[in-house]
Amino acid sequence: MSKAVVLVTGGTGLVGQAIKHIIESEPEGSRFGKQPGESWIFASSSEGDLRDPSQSRRLFEKYKPTHVIHLAALVGGLFKNMKYKLTFLRDNILINDNVLHSSYESKVEKLISCLSTCVFPDKVEYPLDERKIHSGAPHESNFGYAHAKRLVDVQNHAYKEEFGCNFTSAIPTNVFGPHDNFDLEDSHVIPGLIHKCYLAKQNNTPFVVAGTGKPLRQFIFSWDLAKLFIWMLREYDDVEPVILSVGEDEEVSIRAVADAIVKAVGFQGDYTFDTKRADGQFRKPASNKKLLSLMGGFEFTPFDQALDITVDWFLKNYESARTGNANIA
Ligand code: NAP
Ligand code: GDP
Repeated sequence: MSKAVVLVTGGTGLVGQAIKHIIESEPEGSRFGKQPGESWIFASSSEGDLRDPSQSRRLFEKYKPTHVIHLAALVGGLFKNMKYKLTFLRDNILINDNVLHSSYESKVEKLISCLSTCVFPDKVEYPLDERKIHSGAPHESNFGYAHAKRLVDVQNHAYKEEFGCNFTSAIPTNVFGPHDNFDLEDSHVIPGLIHKCYLAKQNNTPFVVAGTGKPLRQFIFSWDLAKLFIWMLREYDDVEPVILSVGEDEEVSIRAVADAIVKAVGFQGDYTFDTKRADGQFRKPASNKKLLSLMGGFEFTPFDQALDITVDWFLKNYESARTGNANIA
C-alpha cells in the first residue's frame, strides 16, 4: 500500500475520527499504524454533499484516492430512524450510489463500505452471520436505513461481476466512543443516555431511560472498530461482508448499559424507564467467527473501560460535542 491515498468519507464522524485517532497513535509501520508513503484524508460533508453526484465526483477528482473507506451516511438511533424512514432510505441510497460509482469511475483499487447489523432480517435464526443479510424483511423500525444499506452489498457484487471492482463491506454492531453524536433524541442509546445522565446529575432532574430496558445489544468501542477497518483495508480481499463485532455471548441489556453509565458519570440518584417508548428490535446477536478466524484473534477493549474513555471525552468536550438537534436536510 505504499503511496496509497486513503479517502475516508464521513471522516468527521464517530467512526471516521476513531480511524484518524488509531492511524495517528499506533506506531508507524505497525499492523494498524500508518504505513510509509501512505496519506489519509478524512472528508466531511462540507467538502462535498455526497447525495449529489457532481460533488461526489469532484471530491474524488480532488484527492484521487487509491483506497476508500466509505462511512458517510445519514445515521441515527432508534427514534430518529422511526421518524425519518424515507429520508434515511433516500439519502443513504444517493450517498452510496455516488460513492460507489465515483470509486468505479476513478479506478479505486479497493473500497470498503459500512453497513450495520440493523440491516439483518427481523425474523431469523440467531446468531446473525454474513450469509443472512437478504433472507427476510428487516425490523420495521428502521426499514428505510436497512434497505438502503443492504443495496450496497447488492451493488458490490454487481460492480465486481460487471467491472471486476474490488468493493466490499463491513457490518459493525452498535458503536460508541469519542466524537459520537450525543443528541438527546436522535442519537444511539449510549451517547443519548450519557448526555441525559450528565444533565440529571448537573441539574438534579430525573434520569429517564426509554423503553423497558430489556432489549439486548452488542456494543463495539469505536477505537476497536477503527483497527478492524484498517485490518480489512490491508488484509481482506473479498466482496463478501465481514461482521465487525464482539462475540455473540457479549450481549448487554439496556438496563445494564444504564447502570454502567450511572457509574461512569457518577450519578447518585435513581432512574426510571419510560415504557411507553419503543424498545425496537429485541435482540440481534451477531457472530464474529469469520472475523476472528481471518484475523487470528483480536483483543477488544473491556466495555467499562471504553465507556470511561467515552464519558471522559464527553465531559471534556461538552461545549464542542454534538449535543443539539441534528439537521435533517
Ligand atoms: P456520524 O458520527 O453521524 O458521522 C457521519 C459522517 O457522515 C459525518 O462525517 C458526516 O459529515 C458524514 N455525512 C453525513 N451526510 C453526508 C453527506 N450527505 N455527504 C457527505 N458526508 C456526509 O456516524 P458514524 O456513527 O460515524 O457512522 C459511520 C458509519 O458507520 C455509517 O455508515 C453508519 O451507518 C455506520 N454504523 C454506525 C453505527 C453506530 O452505532 N454509530 C453502527 C453500525 C454502523 P459531517 O460531519 O460534515 O456532517
Ligand atoms: P438500535 O440498536 O439500532 O436499536 O439503536 P439504539 O442505539 O438507538 O438503541 C435502541 C435501544 O435502546 C432501544 O431498546 C431503546 O428503547 C433503548 N434506549 C433507551 N434509552 C434510549 C435513548 O435515550 N436513546 C436511544 N436511541 N435508545 C434508547
